[in-house]
Amino acid sequence: MAKFFLRKKAGDRVANGHPWVFANELGDSDGEYEAGDIVELYSYNGSFIGKGYVNPASQIRIRLLSRNKSEEINDEFFYNRINEAWAYRQSIGYIENCRLIFGEADGLPALIIDKFNDYLVLQTLALGIDKWKPAIVDALQKIFKPKGIYERNDVPVRELEGLAQQKGFLSEPFDTNIILNENGLKFHVDIENGQKTGYFLDQQDNRRAIQHIVKGADVLEAFCYTGTFSLHAAHYGAKSVLGLDISENAVKTARRNAELNGLQDICKFDAVNAFDVLKQWGKDNRRYDVVMIDPPAFTKSRENIQKAITGYKEINLRSMKLTKPGGFLVTASCTNLVPPDMFLKIIDMAAKDAKRKIRQVTWQTQASDHPILWHVPSTQYLKFLIVQVM
Ligand code: SAH
Repeated sequence: MAKFFLRKKAGDRVANGHPWVFANELGDSDGEYEAGDIVELYSYNGSFIGKGYVNPASQIRIRLLSRNKSEEINDEFFYNRINEAWAYRQSIGYIENCRLIFGEADGLPALIIDKFNDYLVLQTLALGIDKWKPAIVDALQKIFKPKGIYERNDVPVRELEGLAQQKGFLSEPFDTNIILNENGLKFHVDIENGQKTGYFLDQQDNRRAIQHIVKGADVLEAFCYTGTFSLHAAHYGAKSVLGLDISENAVKTARRNAELNGLQDICKFDAVNAFDVLKQWGKDNRRYDVVMIDPPAFTKSRENIQKAITGYKEINLRSMKLTKPGGFLVTASCTNLVPPDMFLKIIDMAAKDAKRKIRQVTWQTQASDHPILWHVPSTQYLKFLIVQVM
């Protein structure tokens, strides 16, 4: 097995628990290896740090899988890690649906697996984990005996690793339109063509958090995807709900979700560009008791962070203007490039510009099936805030 040595000046991020080793942190190496192989990592003075997979084509040169020298990385290793991750989810209360593997936070960098009742959807986002796909699928078959396993590797980030984008069955083919249960509601999920893995499990606790503020309310939701927050609002007693999304497909599914739950008289959905519509409705003096927004990440790179700040500020400002005095803004941000303190500052700036005072009701993060691993900041990515807009 090839050995890699950290530079003396590499810092202690990796020693403190971060599983990524960047190209510029590495000094000497010893031994032959191929892209995707398991290699050993040592400090500059030769003490063992861990083992993981290497990709010379990636800026993230090594991602560590284990810090135990005697632990072999083989099929059994993947079986055990997945089993442990499932046991952990069960121990914190998950039964039907969960993010089963949240990459780095489960010691399996670049691996995502979502469990939607009897179905599993998987993403292998780096070469070194992609190589183990057969072992991972085998472990999932053994542990869950699922009705189906599907690969949603149609994501551009794979190209940074020299991997093709692809999607398809990893089990016998099955009907990829499924229904899941959440907080007493039912949702259609399109595993094959939905966004990301098909459903945003990370907001499941946050959807419940709107329970008390929507009673009897006229609610507007922008960026509603398949209407998950909108349907929760109706379920919790909203008088009327309007959900907006730019995707026709998302809106169609949102309407079907309303019917599935008998809430079609309360929940209406429109396929429009929310940026344009919110701006116009602000000018038209439309007002709602509750406005909910969960916009897409405005940037995927740190270089463009200013774009994200401007985008979040603008959309939150428009949403506050649409909120009746004393009403509520429910707002989220899903990119780890905007840390929690920065997000709160953005909301503060938006409130100042809107000339509104705000009072914090709820401030939380992603559901706990997406564990936050301390010392790995990117594992905390979702911010969720409810404020009263005075
Ligand atoms: N809150 C949702 C997830 C929202 S994801 C849930 O929990 O299920 C962000 C959504 O914003 C996507 O559905 C995407 O189609 C939509 N979107 C992106 N740009 C948009 C725009 N300009 N106007 C309206 N919707 C947009």
